[in-house]
Parts: sequence; C-alpha cells; structure tokens
Amino acid sequence: MTHGETPSADVVPPEATLLIIGSGPAGVSAARSYADSGGPGTVLIVTADADRPYQRPPLSKEMLAGEQPVHPQPIEEEGLPEQVSLLLGTEVTAVDRSARTVLCRTSEGMRSIRYSQLVMALGSRPKPLPGVEDGARVHLLRSLRQAGALAEAAAGARSAVVVGSGFIGCEAAASLAARGVRTTMVTPEPTPQAARLGEKAGAHVADWLRGAGVRVLAGTQVEAVRAPCTVRLDDGTEIPADLVLAAVGVEQNGEVPDAAGFPTEEGRVLVDEQLRAGAAEWAAGDLAEARHAVAGRRLAVEHWGDALSMGEIAGHNAAAALTRGAEPRAWDAVPGFWSVIGDRTLKYAAWGDGYSTAHPVEHDDGFTVWYADAEGVLVGVLTHQADEDYERGSELIERRSTVEEALRGG
Ligand SMILES: Cc1cc2nc3c(=O)[nH]c(=O)nc-3n(C[C@H](O)[C@H](O)[C@H](O)COP(=O)(O)OP(=O)(O)OC[C@H]3O[C@@H](n4cnc5c(N)ncnc54)[C@H](O)[C@@H]3O)c2cc1C
Repeated sequence: MTHGETPSADVVPPEATLLIIGSGPAGVSAARSYADSGGPGTVLIVTADADRPYQRPPLSKEMLAGEQPVHPQPIEEEGLPEQVSLLLGTEVTAVDRSARTVLCRTSEGMRSIRYSQLVMALGSRPKPLPGVEDGARVHLLRSLRQAGALAEAAAGARSAVVVGSGFIGCEAAASLAARGVRTTMVTPEPTPQAARLGEKAGAHVADWLRGAGVRVLAGTQVEAVRAPCTVRLDDGTEIPADLVLAAVGVEQNGEVPDAAGFPTEEGRVLVDEQLRAGAAEWAAGDLAEARHAVAGRRLAVEHWGDALSMGEIAGHNAAAALTRGAEPRAWDAVPGFWSVIGDRTLKYAAWGDGYSTAHPVEHDDGFTVWYADAEGVLVGVLTHQADEDYERGSELIERRSTVEEALRGG
C-alpha cells in the first residue's frame, strides 16, 4: 500500500497498531500526535474520501470565489509521519469492539482489519434539503469533489440560491457574489446566524452580505426545489436559478459507532475528557461530544481548530495507552473558529451550547459581542476587528469570569 493510492485488496493490511477512521483534521492530527508521542507500531488511516487529506475551510471561501483553483491544500504540508499509511476510498462499515476489528468496503470487496487502538474521526456530512425534486441542480458542500462540482457550476452560472445562513451559507453566498453570480440567500432566521450569535451580530452579517451584492430573504422557508432549478418559497414565490446550494447544517456520521454499541446521542459519540469511547477506542472532532475539562460538561463542536486539537489529544492518549509511564491528556482548550465572509473576518470563542444574554459593543470599525449565561458568567465572545477582545475573551471564558468584567475592558 502506498501513500495516497486507492488500495487493492491484496495490500490492505490485516492489522494496524493504531487504526484511525477518517482523514479530516481530527484523523490526521491523531496520526501525527500518536507518532510524536512515541506510539509504537503501524498507524493506518482508513477514509471514505477519495482524495489525500486536504483543508476544507478554503472550499467555501477563496476557492468558491474563483480566486484560487479548487485544488487540494494538504492538512500536513510536510506529509504524514513515516509510520502512517493511508487507505483512500475505503468505507468502514462496522466495528467489532470485542474482536477489535473493523470491516471495510474496498474496491476489491469486504476486508477486515484488526487494531490495538482505534480513533473514530468520521466527522459529519451536510443535511439534505427536504423537498428537492429528482434531477434538480442542488449542490452540497463538504468534500473537495463537491467543491469542484460547485465551482464548475458557478463558473457557468448567472444566478444562484443559497439555502441556509450558517457559516457555510454566509461564506458561500459572499464568494458566489464575488465571482459575479447574482446570489440570493434564503433563511428562516430573522438575520443570518441569529440563532447562534444573536440578532445584533446577525444584522452586521446581513449588511456585509448585502454590501457584497447578496439578496438576503430572511424569515423565509424553502418549500421545494423543482427540476431543473426553480426554488419555491413558503409564500409561493418562485426563484429560477442556475444553481442551488443547500447549506442547512450538518449531521454526524455516527451510524457505524452507534451500531457497534458505543454510547451516542443524535449521531455523536459520547466521550470523557480524555476522549475515550471504549477500552481501546477514542473519538474526536465533529463526531465526538466530549466532556470538557474546564467547562465541566459535554460539548459538541464543529470547528476545524477544535477537530485538530481533539485529534491531537486522542492520538496522544492512544499512544499513552500503549506506552509505559505516559500520561493521558484532557480536552481543555476553549473552542472557537474564524469565519471569512467576503473580506470580513469573524472570530468566535465559546463553549457553544447557548447563552442567556448577548452584550454587543460597537467599535470604530468593528464590534464585539459578549455572551453570558443566566448567572452572568461569560460563555462566549464574537469579534470583528477587535483582536484584543478575542484574545482576552478566550482567557476570561476559561477563567469563568463575569460578563461585567469583560465589559469593563482590559
Ligand atoms: C466548506 C467548509 C468550510 C469550513 N470552514 C471552516 C472554517 O473556516 N473554520 C472552522 O472552524 N471550521 C470550518 N469548517 C468545519 C470544519 O471543516 C469541520 O469542523 C472539520 O472538518 C471537522 O473535522 P473532522 O476531522 O471531525 O471531520 P471531517 O473533516 O468531516 O472528516 C471526516 C472524515 O471521515 C471520513 N469518513 C466518514 N465516514 C466514514 C466511514 N464510514 N469510513 C471511512 N471514512 C469515513 C470522511 O471521508 C472524512 O475523511 C468548514 C467546513 C466546510 C465543509
């Protein structure tokens, strides 16, 4: 088996010391961290993806805007460590915990692989949009291949409808508009991202989108998409378009761990602070709902940086389980992400499981929103052009400071 090639059955190894399912940031950083922590033996990443590990964030930004070709940007510039191999285009269909074996569908048929340690990093997939007629030109955006198909369609399109106003929807709408596609965003939210970030922040995002040339239809549901490409709204309006992008959230790829008997909730694998899911099994990234060492409760996050850091912990702990005297580590970083919407950057750090009050502060050319729970404890911060607040905010959240302290300033 060579790096990056679709394997044939005769090269699928019968066993791996560490087997990792998934080649997203969580899987790749688990492999790196296992090697860096002195984990013994072989590491095998088995992934359904057909391409070598690549970065997803540019897919909705510069690549969709046409500023860069849709081309894989590797997660690890320097390549995977020597002891790590990659099985591309190979879906894991079952895990047998008692036999410490996974079953894979390869191009040559079903094969099983034994493991000593297993990291599950199966991530998530876009939720399908209900009401789409067969043959309608509706795109989803998760993989490099989907990004390629979307960018190709955008290159020949004059108009597009983006359904959904989460981060992917906002980024993609701004990118489509930037390449000259007449873009309409349809969202049931009163303002983009209102559910997550509050209406004040949402109003800023709506202004940016409109400024970028996006028509924002808020408080509106898509009822159906008729083939070849007409969007019907809940008020009966019909919008013909050259392409539709459905960006209505993600669901976790939790079916395989769930069927294997790992504890799951809404498709997420429930793990402890060390990301342990079983005697020899770990879960990381979008797939995991992990107890957070500082927050003191389980959190579900869907961010690139957190998938990297959770993968790092899972990989280290898998190595520690096989290495005498090595100490396991806990997940303790405040979660968060950056989002680039056109030429604007939002930075967000938060536990991410809701807030009671939002406290917006306007600056000369940016803004900050502080989020607090019912007791007035700071649980999140969102900034645009206010890096000091972002840095300070992450520390204050970690220290469980009050929102008053945050509002008093540094
Ligand atoms: C277009 C786009 C832009 C984004 N931009 C940002 C951003 O700017 N900032 C940010 O913080 N986050 C961003 N995100 C979210 C971020 O990419 C995810 O949170 C992150 O990829 C999660 O990493 P993961 O490793 O847990 O899972 P994934 O990246 O989803 O990887 C899961 C892997 O598991 C594989 N897999 C799934 N099922 C199986 C199976 N049964 N057998 C074998 N392999 C399987 C998949 O093929 C894939 O390789 C973006 C996401 C997208 C789609």
